[in-house]
Amino acid sequence: MTYRLPELPYDYDALAPAISEEIMRLHHQKHHQAYVDKLNAALEERGQSQDLEQLLGSLSQLPEDIRQSVRDNGGGHFNHSLFWQVMSPSGGGQPSGELAEMLNQRYGSFESFVEQFNAKASGLFGSGWVWLMPDGEIATSPNQDNPIMDGQSVPVLGLDVWEHAYYLDYKNVRADYIEAWWSVVNWSEVERRYAAT
Ligand code: MN
Repeated sequence: MTYRLPELPYDYDALAPAISEEIMRLHHQKHHQAYVDKLNAALEERGQSQDLEQLLGSLSQLPEDIRQSVRDNGGGHFNHSLFWQVMSPSGGGQPSGELAEMLNQRYGSFESFVEQFNAKASGLFGSGWVWLMPDGEIATSPNQDNPIMDGQSVPVLGLDVWEHAYYLDYKNVRADYIEAWWSVVNWSEVERRYAAT
């Protein structure tokens, strides 16, 4: 069995200037590829394919000697696969429909939701992810963890706040990266994921 690096649904330079071509190439071809390779290496001897979401939801059933590697690299593969899909060169703006209604109900307004998401993203210490969960909760995970590892739902939106995601463009200023990222969020894809939950 082998997991594979998914192709980006747009060109490497398509998200610039929010995210440069250089970052996108490194992030996809080096970082994401490394998670895929190490995940495959960790699972090499198991010999059978398993749905990644199921695998991450049942880490405790794995042998102890590969559990952490599958957690880190399987999480890295899952999280980045989601991340590429929820961005688009024609993204930005605001969600509509039921997702917009849910966010308005929970946060009062879209702007207030963004404010709270930004605060969590800026405040997350070290490397990790910020998620919008199907119930509207803004969750965070350290490293390459994901809420599904705790038996929770698949997030509908995720933001990578590892330094490798922004340092070449924004140096240490994570807040500028986060602000620019909203201009490439693919709301129609997030709405599709929300509707499917
Ligand atoms: Mn990353």
